[in-house]
Amino acid sequence: MSLGPGIRRIVAGNAGLMTGPGTNTYLFGMREVAILDPGPDDARHLEAILEAAGSAIRWIIVTHTHPDHSPLASRLARITGAKVLGLPPPGDGRQDATFAPHHMPVDGERLSAGECELIAIHTPGHASNCVCYLLERERLLFTGDHVLEGVSPVILPPDGDMSAYLHSLDKLQSHDFERIAPGHGGVMERGKEILAALRAHRLAREEKVLGSLRRLGAATLDDLTPAEIAERLGVDVTTVSWRLRQTPILGISRLLAQQIKASKEWLP
Ligand SMILES: [Zn+2]
Repeated sequence: MSLGPGIRRIVAGNAGLMTGPGTNTYLFGMREVAILDPGPDDARHLEAILEAAGSAIRWIIVTHTHPDHSPLASRLARITGAKVLGLPPPGDGRQDATFAPHHMPVDGERLSAGECELIAIHTPGHASNCVCYLLERERLLFTGDHVLEGVSPVILPPDGDMSAYLHSLDKLQSHDFERIAPGHGGVMERGKEILAALRAHRLAREEKVLGSLRRLGAATLDDLTPAEIAERLGVDVTTVSWRLRQTPILGISRLLAQQIKASKEWLP
């Protein structure tokens, strides 16, 4: 599928449980090139990027600083002299600590990158420093891990935040785009419908947890073990590790805790 004039994609060789078919690195422009999400610090991937764009690389932009998205930025910047853009890594121990941007895009900022102009949209949730980039000309939204093809992204507390994630999904709806180019997987048509489906999926899950909490009666969050809730939800435990299995539950628990704090009334 064509992404649009001057837009290319290279997939890193890091396919896996958390990365699907591998991290997508996007290239914008031909004479002057912007790289979006250079990916893991991998020699073969670096070679592929340099072969595709080499000395034409002027900008390196990242959606967030998880280790499968940004680590190659510093090496690529050293080689090409490109300017690095993105938000610095949060301190949750799960980030690429080497990422040091020259410029931190503010929300709504128009970034001029040679033949392309991108609008930066802050979308905290999957990570607190997530930024989506809209290529208005093509009505194409680059989402990093905020929206993925075929799967719902992992929200790992404390840096990941389900409440912020839902707000960010709503925020994207106000922008004019048609297709979504995710950080992993192929380009998706009818982007707005995909966002709506993703939101509905998350809320349905939240409702399920809320139902479990109601059935428990007067329990505190401390009484609820992730294992207990996972069992009640019937979460598939055959294909993912225990640690991952806990993740959505903890994310939802945190969201509920925020709501409880806000309303001070939660159990009937
Ligand atoms: Zn990520």
